[in-house]
Amino acid sequence: MSYKILTVDDSRMVRMIVAKTFQAYGCEIHEASNGADAIIAAATLFPDLIFLDITMADMNGLVVLEQMRALDHLKNTPIVMLTAESGSHFIERADKLKVAGYISKPFKGEQLIALAGKILNLEPVIAP
Ligand SMILES: [Mg+2]
Repeated sequence: MSYKILTVDDSRMVRMIVAKTFQAYGCEIHEASNGADAIIAAATLFPDLIFLDITMADMNGLVVLEQMRALDHLKNTPIVMLTAESGSHFIERADKLKVAGYISKPFKGEQLIALAGKILNLEPVIAP
């Protein structure tokens, strides 16, 4: 099955790594580069998994997380926080909002797959 993944990060590089990694597993990739767009995207897409940056210019990822959890259909959506060193003090607050895990930056695609594979039934796309 094709899972919908939403990546929320103000870094284009991070979004590219996530996209490249999950395209190899046939996932449908959606992206948002700021918090406001992320909430709209999450509310309309019904993603199977969200990767959410903490440090963004317009809105802290924790605020985005709180707003997503306030929406009925996003209450139980798996959300993985992408954390930089500067975001580590937010972890306690994020834990209370039932996050599915944390990935520290910088990260490799394999780390994403290792964590996402516990949540989704990922299968690599076999080239014809
Ligand atoms: Mg950021």
